[in-house]
Amino acid sequence: MKKKINRMLVLMALLGILLTAVLLTYLYYRMFESQVFLDLEDCAALLAEADFAQENALGENLGERGVRVTLVEESGLVRYDNLADPAQMENHLDRPEVADAFLTGAGRCVRESETLSSSTFYYALRRPDGSVLRVSKTAGSIYSVFRAALPGILLVLALLLGLSFCLARLLAAKLLRPVKRMAENMDAQAEPAQYEELAPFVSMIQKQHEDILKGVRMRQEFTANVTHELKTPLTSISGYAELIETGMADPGDTVRFARGIHSSADRLLSLINDIIRLSELDGGEAAVPFERLDLYELAGSCVETLSLNGKKHQVSLALRGESVLIDGNRQMIEELLYNLCDNAIRYNNRDGRVEVYVGPQEGGGAVLSVSDTGIGIPKEHQERIFERFYRVDKSRSKSTGGTGLGLAIVKHIVALHGARMELWSEVGRGTKITVYFP
Ligand code: ADP
Repeated sequence: MKKKINRMLVLMALLGILLTAVLLTYLYYRMFESQVFLDLEDCAALLAEADFAQENALGENLGERGVRVTLVEESGLVRYDNLADPAQMENHLDRPEVADAFLTGAGRCVRESETLSSSTFYYALRRPDGSVLRVSKTAGSIYSVFRAALPGILLVLALLLGLSFCLARLLAAKLLRPVKRMAENMDAQAEPAQYEELAPFVSMIQKQHEDILKGVRMRQEFTANVTHELKTPLTSISGYAELIETGMADPGDTVRFARGIHSSADRLLSLINDIIRLSELDGGEAAVPFERLDLYELAGSCVETLSLNGKKHQVSLALRGESVLIDGNRQMIEELLYNLCDNAIRYNNRDGRVEVYVGPQEGGGAVLSVSDTGIGIPKEHQERIFERFYRVDKSRSKSTGGTGLGLAIVKHIVALHGARMELWSEVGRGTKITVYFP
């Protein structure tokens, strides 16, 4: 960009200088030409009455000063010329300035020499006796004037070029400084763009930059959390196993330790399952196959699968609503239903209820809601429960087999289906999560 600006500026300067030089030469020459003609006209006016046969000295004098005087008769024959022998000269009627003078009283003409190095300026005037007096003077042509001025022009050109090159560099650097500074301070707090044309560009880059940083931070956090989550059950498995190995456990304890190993291993399995699931959803690779699904039917089988689990917690499950079709991925929708219902059971009270509702939405689409009469979620936690590994009550989550990833998976699935989610919850009264499918 800098190079381009530089080049453009230098090119503009070069063009400007050349155009000015040509224009100035032309104007100068025009002025020079009209001055020569004025002189010639004065000269002709003065000589109009002169009798050259008598005043030979006058002609010679003019000749020395570079002025040629020719007297042409009406027939075109040259009667007098101060620089050549009239007898040797051809008929002059075909000279444009002479013809014009016979016709209109005066005529003028400029003729370039063959080499274009000089021009001859002719002025002809009809005399009272009918003959035509022509005066002429040879001077440098426009080309020779330009050629003479060329070294000067080139010198100025070189100087100005050098100057404009330096200026172009300075200007380009000055123009681009804000852009450069911006690029260097990308992670500094949003600095407003110096050029309004760049403002949308800058805010877009800054937003992308923030998103990238946020992504990196989230990934680092997630990795740290995963490590921590996996470490706990592994440590207890290793501990129990060591106790059995060293024979420090009584035969009676062995069963208890084995149970501990079993539950920690289960925990590891569900953690790993959820982590793999999340990273699959994160990858967003290969478009997930969508099909027409009856949401009511899927909710029905989920309620059926989980009722036994509900009984264990003394929680009853019910399904309400009607059949409605959505476009979705079967496995993901089943997972979403399972995670929501499972939470509604696990965070419920004895003799609590879970109600799943499925029905059409006003203006198209479908609604799914899972409500429970459980412990509820305090206001300050409500926004964060969809984050990975975020739990309100860690021990309750763990003791009921939670991984802290269920709602993060739900959030992903909802986004992948272009759906929207709402949460209502009140401590002691219960929780209701509603999903609106398009
Ligand atoms: P977990 O595996 O811990 O249940 P989730 O991601 O499913 O993880 O949920 C995150 C947290 O949100 C839970 O630990 C719990 O504190 C809270 N939560 C989720 N669903 C409910 C609910 N129906 N009632 C009360 N709290 C809930």
